[in-house]
Amino acid sequence: MFDVRERARALQEQIVSWRRALHATPEIGLEAPVTERFIVDELAKMGVDSIVHGGGKHGITALIKGGRPGGVLGIRADYDALRITEDTGLPFAATNGNMHACGHDAHAAMLLGTARLLLDCREELPGSVKLIFQPSEEDGKGADAMIRDGVMEDPAVDSVIGLHTGNLWKGFKHGEVGYRFGALMAAADWFKVTFSGKGGHGATPHLTIDPLAMAAQAVIMLQQIVSREVNPFDPAVVTVGMIHGGAMPNIIAQECVIEGTIRCMSQSVRDHITKRIHEICEEAARALRGSALVSFGAGTPPVLNDRAVTEDLKRAMEDIVGAENVHEVEEPTMGAEDMALFLERAPGSFFFLPALFDDESRNFPHHHPKFDLNEEVFWIGPAVMAHYALTRRQ
Ligand SMILES: [Zn+2]
Ligand SMILES: [Zn+2]
Repeated sequence: MFDVRERARALQEQIVSWRRALHATPEIGLEAPVTERFIVDELAKMGVDSIVHGGGKHGITALIKGGRPGGVLGIRADYDALRITEDTGLPFAATNGNMHACGHDAHAAMLLGTARLLLDCREELPGSVKLIFQPSEEDGKGADAMIRDGVMEDPAVDSVIGLHTGNLWKGFKHGEVGYRFGALMAAADWFKVTFSGKGGHGATPHLTIDPLAMAAQAVIMLQQIVSREVNPFDPAVVTVGMIHGGAMPNIIAQECVIEGTIRCMSQSVRDHITKRIHEICEEAARALRGSALVSFGAGTPPVLNDRAVTEDLKRAMEDIVGAENVHEVEEPTMGAEDMALFLERAPGSFFFLPALFDDESRNFPHHHPKFDLNEEVFWIGPAVMAHYALTRRQ
């Protein structure tokens, strides 16, 4: 029987070197030619059964066919960076004004490692594994683009897993792994409201219709949605992060614009908040004799983990790192992830591989110019994912 744990440990150095190579050439957005060339070359060298790249399609999809009957498991890793000037001082630090400050370089390297492991035991692998390398996670465009290109079809993916490394969740040490049933990360949407009135002199308010007064009322009333209308056990956030209106203290403006973000963990709350922002802003404007134009930018849905997949995944984690090192992520985060879009189309599970340093001074938040990962844990991700592929219920 193929010893995934030992084989993954033996691959550790290789995974680290892939990560460092990817780290040095960070790219952002839907097109990442250098990163994609690197991944495609490595997959080709390994001898995967097929690679889909280019030809108008986004990202990279590769297929590994197993020697036993079974379904099609999708394993997803993102590979995009951020527009941040790196300040880690690492020997493989990027110098092109972009930076892998979220750990996606490690995600891609770990998926390459997973591919290597699965190819080494392909006779034992039930069904097929579709490796999904995704660009543009940070701006929420990549998963959507790949799904439109048909990544979940031909052959149809019956289940999908993926991981995030770094320090997104607290209370973990390196060497541990985190899972969660149900909601792991939030839905994120944006809204913009333009309040319109009738401008004029600040000394004659009775001759005007003041849009700033409407916006002020609306901002206060919007706070009531979460505090008065949403179940306290169903986390949600409505934040107004921008308010723009007026040019001088003695002028009543013609318009006032507010913009904000909505975070929540369920579709029903998402629908309710969206509906109520509409109603509240329009009613506040009408009450003060003006009008409001409300628009929404639909972001990603919540990351919702399937129970059966998560149970099997948890078992795989326990086999790899021991039950004492497998913990439930206690609280979901209000951050968003477009992994959610894959999970909307096939049951699956997104899990957390902490890559923290013991030395606290080396741990920086994600998206920080000094963000870094403890590379010692890299073998664990591929080991868990490959072991899950070999042992999951079909
Ligand atoms: Zn990020
Ligand atoms: Zn990320």
